[in-house]
Amino acid sequence: MYRCWAEINLNAITENLIWIRQRMGAFCKVMSIVKADAYGHGLKQISAHLMSLGGGLLDAVPDAFGVANLKEAADIRSVGAGWPILMLGDCLEDELATALMHKVMISISTFDEAKKFSDFAASKGEIGEVQIKVDTGMGRLGVQATDATELTKQVSMLPNLRLLGIYTHLAAAEDDADFTQKQISLFKDVVEKIKSFGIHLTYIHAFSSGGILLEDNSAFNTVRPGLISYGIVPEGSRKFPVSIQNALHPVLSFKSRVTYVKNIEKGKTISYGHTFTAPKTMKVATVSAGYGDGFPRAASNQGCVLIKGKKCNVLGRVTMDQTIVDVSEIEDVKNGDEVILIGKQGNLEITATDLAHWANTIPWEILTGITYRVQRIYHGTTAS
Ligand SMILES: *Cc1c(COP(=O)(O)O)cnc(C)c1O
Repeated sequence: MYRCWAEINLNAITENLIWIRQRMGAFCKVMSIVKADAYGHGLKQISAHLMSLGGGLLDAVPDAFGVANLKEAADIRSVGAGWPILMLGDCLEDELATALMHKVMISISTFDEAKKFSDFAASKGEIGEVQIKVDTGMGRLGVQATDATELTKQVSMLPNLRLLGIYTHLAAAEDDADFTQKQISLFKDVVEKIKSFGIHLTYIHAFSSGGILLEDNSAFNTVRPGLISYGIVPEGSRKFPVSIQNALHPVLSFKSRVTYVKNIEKGKTISYGHTFTAPKTMKVATVSAGYGDGFPRAASNQGCVLIKGKKCNVLGRVTMDQTIVDVSEIEDVKNGDEVILIGKQGNLEITATDLAHWANTIPWEILTGITYRVQRIYHGTTAS
């Protein structure tokens, strides 16, 4: 028995990836984004699970994986050999050897980087694999769209590199349709020019979750789903049909247990900084989860958890290991009772997005913020 744990439903991620593949069509490759410990779900377990699928579940098997660093790439290699992996960032000079050793595709923003990788690969008698990153408006990494065609030509001629792809990243897909259209058309222009030079690339991609749900991918041949593969729909001012949220299944539940129940009198205060004062006699429960587990401190006096199928408000500050909640309306609550921080109980559900709202953040930060000490428990079949 655990005090604070996460349950990962492997069947849910399978279904989500099948849904994404069917939505994108047979000619679109799916690069599964498993950075940040697969958004807190366990990078090795999620990768191994997806690699193992076959039979009727083959659609859920990714064509490639996307990671943020080489440790994550090595973790994928440790559970399965030979899968294409893209590092979604530029490679530092002292990382080139590791990138080459693990055959990780690295992202290229400048000719200088590409030349160094080619020279290094040549010194080992090997070929490095790369993709060009194009900045169409994200302003983070990548060659400016105006220079992208020239860079692509130059990189494609380097002797010890294999140029496998080109990609860009949207900055505001969920909110700003016009800005997104500008990004897409800049990237389309680059892609058309490259094709006209006779350069054919395996991976041409622009869309993460928001773009996948809202835009037309027909000019490109790959997508990079992260959040939606974990069953969470990104939110913004551009609205999605309810059918989409219904089609995707949250993969992770975040749970804890009651360790103490007591009655308090009117006027008593709760937790650090005594930010909550009981307005009346109340029954409160201490829950064995806090910001040290990834239950955000910003949810102090905000939002709720579920106990015995009912909502219980968070009272006072969330502490590192424990949180106090109102159980005045719940009969028979006792030590050891299960507490839902994210997930379903009875007819009610708390999503990662709900918790993000209460903590004034986004579901990506909630999921990746679930900490090391939270035991991950896996449910569901792995292969067929
Ligand atoms: C993290 C990331 C993704 C996945 O984004 P989601 O919104 O979680 O789908 C895709 N592409 C790049 C470049 C990323 O950094």
